[in-house]
Amino acid sequence: MDYLPIFVSVKNKLCLVVGGGEVAKRKAGVLLGAGARVRIVAPEIEPSLADLPHVEAIVARFEAQHLEGVTLVIAATNNRAVNLQVSELAQARNIQVNVVDDPGLCSFIMPAILDRSPLMVAFSSGGASPVLTRMMRGKLESIIPQSYSRLAAFAERFRELAKRRITNPAKRRIFWENALEGVVAEKVLAGDEDSAEAMLQQMLENEDNIRRGEVYLVGAGPGDPDLLTFRALRLMQKADVVVYDNLVSKPIVEMARREAQRIFVGKKRADHTMRQEEINELLVRLAKEGKRVLRLKGGDPFIFGRGGEEIETLAEHGILFQVVPGITAASGVSAYAGIPLTHRDHAQSCIFVTGHLKDGSMNLDWDALARPKQTVVVYMGLHGLEILCAELINHGLPDTTPIAIVQQGTTQNQRVITGTLATLPGIAQIEKPQAPTLIIVGGVVTLRKKLAWFKPKLSEKSVSE
Ligand code: SAH
Repeated sequence: MDYLPIFVSVKNKLCLVVGGGEVAKRKAGVLLGAGARVRIVAPEIEPSLADLPHVEAIVARFEAQHLEGVTLVIAATNNRAVNLQVSELAQARNIQVNVVDDPGLCSFIMPAILDRSPLMVAFSSGGASPVLTRMMRGKLESIIPQSYSRLAAFAERFRELAKRRITNPAKRRIFWENALEGVVAEKVLAGDEDSAEAMLQQMLENEDNIRRGEVYLVGAGPGDPDLLTFRALRLMQKADVVVYDNLVSKPIVEMARREAQRIFVGKKRADHTMRQEEINELLVRLAKEGKRVLRLKGGDPFIFGRGGEEIETLAEHGILFQVVPGITAASGVSAYAGIPLTHRDHAQSCIFVTGHLKDGSMNLDWDALARPKQTVVVYMGLHGLEILCAELINHGLPDTTPIAIVQQGTTQNQRVITGTLATLPGIAQIEKPQAPTLIIVGGVVTLRKKLAWFKPKLSEKSVSE
């Protein structure tokens, strides 16, 4: 280890920045952000910098006297001779000095920081590769969300109380792990501090409440793992058990915590590996065993996902749960297929319906669907395609209305088949699209030619009318 990482308090202390350019400005900003008073010395200083509160601007060349009363110095001029002079004079006076981009002249180096105050991550490659450091920072950005600030402040608020209530340090550690990894933390991160506080109080009152199972009902999006939310990913990496069905793509299931047990609960059309009631009961049982259960669902859990029924059962049993929205097939698939769901010229409204057949018919409000300037998105509609097209024509849509079937949208196997209400049922019989498929009806389908955007990995096949 070449450097000792420490966090220095510069609150109300005088720090010196030598230089008046962009870099100097940035460094002054960091120091001010940490509560320092900043003296800036340069032959020219922008008014936007000089006029800031807590800034003392000295328009002059650097001289030793500017070091008077200073706690630390940053030299950010583009003149090496000046930087060298600052470094030597500062070090002779035991003042910590940093010269930007010149580690040899530094007594301390500035780390890259990820500021989630009061939580602060600082890291450095010791000057070996600033680019690598920046890349690491980008990675950390995505796994430590902004809202961790709130979480750290929340934890700080209860630190003393927890210390008094749970005197055993080992138990206290478990308490905090549970609070900061569980539903309490998720409530804070979601901005609901009142509920988080109530839960925390409950945990503090009764140590039996500390290790409790919980269920995360998480929308996994339509297939491409890139379409997961940060929250989904975070919960996936925390789960003890993953309960998933057909629609969740394999690469996504693989992203869940490696040690987690995986339970497949199936559900293809007419081939229900587990009935819905059995799934509901399974979730309850696992949570009661104290497990963190990840219930992964395709798309969004509340859109044709029966997510509502699952959490109803959980609520009846008093089990903690949270719901994480996902990108529903309609938005994910349409985006990847180049079909905007609404458009000034083609559709001012958009309706999602399920085309699930019951006793060979589709029970839908056809008058509401067969309207001009509207997009209709049909989930689970392939088997009823013929009925769908016929009914829409019967209820007044021109038989030339464009319609698309998107097979396995957003995945490597995405395929778009387009036609009209009159022609598509015939085309589909020949093309035999593979489930899952989404049907999109309306003028917006014609925009696809202009707007289709493919991820490079998608070798998309398209068949047109
Ligand atoms: N909750 C899910 C929908 C579940 S219903 C969501 O919000 O997306 C299952 C139906 O969703 C499928 O029959 C199909 O119509 C549609 N679907 C889901 N993923 C799809 C995909 N990748 N491509 C095409 N259709 C998809």
